[in-house]
Amino acid sequence: NADTAMYMAKERGKNNFQFYSSEPSSLLSRRHLLENKLRTALKNKEFILNYQPQVHLNSHELRGFEALIRWNNPELGLISPEEFIPIAEETGIITDIGTWVLKEACRQNKAWQEQGFVRVPVSINVSSQQFRDPEFVWNVLNVLKESKLHPQYLEIELTESTTHHFVHTVEKLQLIKQYGIKVAIDDFGTGYSSLSALDQLPIDILKIDRSFIKHILTNPNKAAIAKTIIDLGHNLDFKIIAEGIEEPSQADFLNEHQCHIGQGFLFHPPLNPTDVARHYQHLFNEIPFFN
Ligand code: C2E
Ligand code: MG
Ligand code: MG
Ligand code: MG
Repeated sequence: NADTAMYMAKERGKNNFQFYSSEPSSLLSRRHLLENKLRTALKNKEFILNYQPQVHLNSHELRGFEALIRWNNPELGLISPEEFIPIAEETGIITDIGTWVLKEACRQNKAWQEQGFVRVPVSINVSSQQFRDPEFVWNVLNVLKESKLHPQYLEIELTESTTHHFVHTVEKLQLIKQYGIKVAIDDFGTGYSSLSALDQLPIDILKIDRSFIKHILTNPNKAAIAKTIIDLGHNLDFKIIAEGIEEPSQADFLNEHQCHIGQGFLFHPPLNPTDVARHYQHLFNEIPFFN
């Protein structure tokens, strides 16, 4: 079977490098399978967006949502974005998926607003490839125009590695900012933390990576880094959002240390649109207004 074959290949590989392959064959075939299924997933409407609430830590009041993609394939079941987004990036399929995410998040946010829902921003995760696409800004503006969502209700999340070593980063971000769209650096603290570049970047929000939050009360080094990110953010005039808050004590610690916005399972997991509407019923006006 596959495990035995893998073991034998490894044993042989110890003495003979001609058998070396960077990935075991079972992983390679899983990859090919996912790649194939990904190619038709959009057309077959296998994606949905879930929305994870971001809350003010002092009141638990809603401040926005992060849109998170879910892929449900009839044969493979639910596949994590951690697994398929990298494949989508390598194969270029991310371009179409990214555009779909953008459209769907804007459409949904506008629909909620038209139903009289409290107006809050939706943030979308934008991959490196998508951001570096020369058409990216134009695409975003086009989608905003089509969906009639005001740019102030759209945020984009980029990782440090996306902004790093890309010559057009600053001018692109300036353009985005000029149109009133907000930009967050996601998973902050885990990538190329080029502090010297940070003050050059016209961004609005730093999201502290959940690996720091997880150990914030048990590991003084992680706590020190989290506190440093918070101070840095305030000094550079960014908003700070903590990711992955699971314990009330973590929320309290962050709030006491001047990080006032968070998201995490403590408050809500990512919710499907129906659950958002159900959970936040009280935030819909009784009389819907249209504009
Ligand atoms: P991310 O942008 O950092 O998103 C946060 C991830 O943390 C989400 O995982 C979310 O479900 C999870 N999370 C939220 N609260 C907690 C918590 O309290 N504890 C723990 N342990 N986890 C928590 P998810 O949805 O599986 O997404 C994983 C990653 O996949 C995202 O990380 C993002 O990098 C990527 N991703 C998701 N949706 C998209 C998308 O539409 N486009 C692109 N390009 N990437 C996406
Ligand atoms: Mg994110
Ligand atoms: Mg993150
Ligand atoms: Mg992440």
